[in-house]
Amino acid sequence: MPENQGLTFERLPHPAPTDSAQREQALANPGFGSVFSDHMVTIDWEEGKGWHNATLGPRVPLSLDPATAVLHYAQEIFEGLKAYRQADGTVALFRPEANAARFNASARRLAMAELPEETFVESVRLLVEADRDWFPTVEGGSLYLRPFMIASEAFLGVRPSKKFKYIVIASPAGNYFKSGAPAVSIWVSSDYSRAAPGGTGAAKCGGNYAASLVPQAEAIARGHDQVVFLDAEEHKWIEELGGMNLFFVFDDGRIVTPPLTGTILPGITRNSLLTLAREEGLDVHEERYSVEQWRADAASGKLIETFACGTAAVVTPVGKIADRNGEVLIGSGGPGQLTQKFREKLVGIQRGTVEDKHGWITKLS
Ligand SMILES: *Cc1c(COP(=O)(O)O)cnc(C)c1O
Repeated sequence: MPENQGLTFERLPHPAPTDSAQREQALANPGFGSVFSDHMVTIDWEEGKGWHNATLGPRVPLSLDPATAVLHYAQEIFEGLKAYRQADGTVALFRPEANAARFNASARRLAMAELPEETFVESVRLLVEADRDWFPTVEGGSLYLRPFMIASEAFLGVRPSKKFKYIVIASPAGNYFKSGAPAVSIWVSSDYSRAAPGGTGAAKCGGNYAASLVPQAEAIARGHDQVVFLDAEEHKWIEELGGMNLFFVFDDGRIVTPPLTGTILPGITRNSLLTLAREEGLDVHEERYSVEQWRADAASGKLIETFACGTAAVVTPVGKIADRNGEVLIGSGGPGQLTQKFREKLVGIQRGTVEDKHGWITKLS
């Protein structure tokens, strides 16, 4: 059970917020992940004391003892979600309670303290409200939120930390793809695995990403955009990309996504698309799909679309698969019809132009 329900946040004034001319310049073309807002939230946890020191204050560098556990044993988890400016000018979050629940699932796997879900959502809400001037002015822009937690105890012994620090920062993000979504090319990694049975594949932890950087760099070096990982036991079944889940669309109307076996990250975008597809009566299956079958179905034309999904890029068409045996185009190699339809529907719900039938939108004001 998470401790300390009903934590109250202390608000520290910002001594020198970014001046508006500088901010507007940064917001005109923010890209992804390199521009940051003025504030952050921090909350501390300590064994015997629980959660305390909840603060919304200026975004400042952290000062850490060189023996801080996270720096040595990577006891760290994170989340990623976006605040969207709605068609009516208000600001909304998309399924923040799902991120809160997943954050705690990751915390349990990494032997970290759980944060009450309402505190997670409140922390994100407070930061967005404090930084409401940090929404990009470009169309399709959003405020990307990065809640994360580190083992903050200064101790070199190998055991779960007795202190944690939870932090939320915000980064204005441009439209991931300027005009629509270009199809990406995928490299199948045969030498590396992302996650093994019993490992941390279903947790959103920094360590998974560290291990994915070499195979991702290999994909780029070979002229592709993303790496796709196969299961670690048989090297046969398609799992996911380094940070996105996959869907396959067939000519008989079937839609398939790999099942959550414990080695795949349970994406909130994946879950939302499954819900939308089922509600439309589409023939969706959470089923294993092999890489040989993928190549064969792409070559025969049985497979008509493949797309990747995740918070950062929403829905991204996959136009090409490549491995040591060569490349195969999927469909025409461009974005497929269903891919575009899913993308428009989900973006529409997030932006408030398509009805939210599932209570996924939390309006902030
Ligand atoms: C975050 C993440 C996803 C996508 O999850 P969303 O909740 O849809 O953003 C998929 N795979 C991995 C490995 C991830 O870290």
